[in-house]
Amino acid sequence: MPELPEVETVRRGLERALAGREIVSADIRDGRLTAPADPAAIGHELLGAVVLEVGRRGKYLTIGLDDGRTLVSHLRMTGWYHHVATPEERAHLRAVFGLDDGTWLLYSDQRRFGTMRLLRSDDLEAYWRGRVGPEPLSGGWTVAGFREKLRGRTAPIKALLLDQRIVAGVGNIYADEALWEARIHPLTPGGRLGPARVARLHDAVVAVLERGIEAQGASIDTYRGVDGQPGSMQERFNVFDRTGEPCPRCGTPIVKVRVAQRGTHYCPGCTRPR
Ligand SMILES: [Zn+2]
Repeated sequence: MPELPEVETVRRGLERALAGREIVSADIRDGRLTAPADPAAIGHELLGAVVLEVGRRGKYLTIGLDDGRTLVSHLRMTGWYHHVATPEERAHLRAVFGLDDGTWLLYSDQRRFGTMRLLRSDDLEAYWRGRVGPEPLSGGWTVAGFREKLRGRTAPIKALLLDQRIVAGVGNIYADEALWEARIHPLTPGGRLGPARVARLHDAVVAVLERGIEAQGASIDTYRGVDGQPGSMQERFNVFDRTGEPCPRCGTPIVKVRVAQRGTHYCPGCTRPR
């Protein structure tokens, strides 16, 4: 599932492909994508719109249009945008957008959990409220703010990191990597972390997300950039997807447990017990 670094890489690719372009055709083929709105109606409304900018909020992409509306797109599990010179039929193709420079934007989605919503740009802030918390790389996410959100929480810190209202954009990969970096056991109740460990985890989250963006994301399953290129973050994992391999810090084999229904990787050697 794409997390902040993957979605940010997609955003940059979409910005290059779409900024200043007019949408001249829109064929949305899957009603699940726009539900409850009718896909044909959304496609019709997009015609003639010019893309001003492509933004990101947590794991959401925001395609800002010149008519005062924004197309909000979430890739969920397997959504993928591909910018191409010639449109071709392919498996799991859910939407095809024609642009005024003669190029095409394809959207495919094997598992079909991705969503697209057309909102008034003025309504975006209200849409984020209750869905997405602070943006970790914006400078608006502070150690004090993070501590406040963890205060009194008994859920495992791993589960809390996955809660988009606590910090936006972190998913399974970057949560495991950040916890390893901060030497915090994934099952530690969030409220039990003192100021030093919260500060360490805050900085580790920022560091692993920045590293992920620099590597253009992690391609462990279907994820690719808008240009079709895979990311390389998977080559830099310290614990994620490395069960049984030696910890890069202490050599102890990495173990995998389940936390909040998600496979969770940590080092039992150099991670302080919860
Ligand atoms: Zn270790």
